[in-house]
Amino acid sequence: MTLFAKIIAGEFPADKVHEDEQCIAIRDINPQAPVHILVIPKKPLVNVASAAAEDEKLLGHLMLTAKALAISEGIAETGYRLVLNVGRHGGQSVDHLHVHLLGGRAMGWPPG
Ligand code: 5GP
Repeated sequence: MTLFAKIIAGEFPADKVHEDEQCIAIRDINPQAPVHILVIPKKPLVNVASAAAEDEKLLGHLMLTAKALAISEGIAETGYRLVLNVGRHGGQSVDHLHVHLLGGRAMGWPPG
């Protein structure tokens, strides 16, 4: 069971900012920006590489949830970044799909 599966099951604490039937959103424990939220599907997909056609609506739901949170967090006007790290070179450290919502400061490019 991954850390995020434990958080979804309520077996590990997290600062939850949103929950619905398909996903939760929590504040990252090691924030890289003034707003750093993880949007996590309840379905235990490892990452986008392991998603299938049947997950199309779920993936869209994660994006729209992130968009709604950007509005409620007050960063929609200034802009923000959505990140999905995939696998080793992508920098993924938790093997349960999650969308990073980062904002509240200007982001650099290219990413490290
Ligand atoms: P990844 O590196 O897999 O893209 O992102 C995993 C994220 O999970 C990291 O940003 C990391 O700070 C965050 N994280 C790791 N452990 C915990 C935890 O126990 N609670 C919360 N809220 N976030 C965590």
